Amino acid sequence: MGKGTPSLGLKGRSKSHIVCRRCGRHSYSLSNRRCGACGYNSSKRIRRYSWQNKKLNRMRLV
Ligand SMILES: [Zn+2]
Repeated sequence: MGKGTPSLGLKGRSKSHIVCRRCGRHSYSLSNRRCGACGYNSSKRIRRYSWQNKKLNRMRLV
């Protein structure tokens, strides 16, 4: 099965993401064990880019 519509039907059965311990967003992936929003568990630094304006715990990351 590919990545298209047929496989997306399976994604509603179990929770794929939980609340991240570091950034508080509901982006911590249980399948690959990292946060998609801040990179928790994959990088020691917080995942951020110059083109994005992100707030971590309501503090703006410059
Ligand atoms: Zn996070």
